[in-house]
Amino acid sequence: TQFAELGLDPKLVTTVTEAGYETPTPIQIKAIPLVLDGRDVMGLAQTGTGKTAAFGLPLIHQLLRNHDKRQPKSVKALILAPTRELVNQIAENLRAYVQGTHLKVRTVVGGMSINKQISMLAPGIDILVATPGRLIDLLDRKAIRLDTATFLVLDEADQMLDMGFIHALRRIAPELGTPRQTMLFSATMPKQMEELSRAYLTDPAKVQV
Ligand code: AMP
Repeated sequence: TQFAELGLDPKLVTTVTEAGYETPTPIQIKAIPLVLDGRDVMGLAQTGTGKTAAFGLPLIHQLLRNHDKRQPKSVKALILAPTRELVNQIAENLRAYVQGTHLKVRTVVGGMSINKQISMLAPGIDILVATPGRLIDLLDRKAIRLDTATFLVLDEADQMLDMGFIHALRRIAPELGTPRQTMLFSATMPKQMEELSRAYLTDPAKVQV
């Protein structure tokens, strides 16, 4: 299977080809058409399998087709990840994929000046990659609105479970827009993941590599 066969915007196919990706990885082959189809997806995949592009490329494809104006303090897609390192790594990949488009990718993590983050969010952005703790801080300060966010990605969800993630999601999820497309990725599938899936995903397609 080639990238050009997955249904992605030709611009994105060019971007990944120029990045040196020759063929899509198994998780990309399975997940990309499902996400393009609007399905919620629950993916069992380790880091290194290409899962960032598996959710990132079809997400960007859909954002490129959405011409709604950016609203102040708002985001269109929210990606939650457990650590600052992972947030930065995801953002770095996504920035490469949005090159040459109008889309803005920003990050929000603990340990950075919150005032800088507040002014960075003020004009509104397209894709926000965040750790749950700092995001809640910004919600409490009313520095961010999530009601325009119709895409949610929970990356390395098993790692987030260990960090009081269920509690954080209870605070964050009700702020999101509807209808919403949700993708959950995890390296392991503990029982709590099924509960998480039942609570936050709708009829998810399951993919495994
Ligand atoms: P990830 O599992 O998302 O952390 O990706 C691991 C690494 O693989 C990243 O550095 C990506 O840039 C790279 N990558 C993702 N998809 C592909 C692909 N189809 N071909 C070659 N490299 C890829």
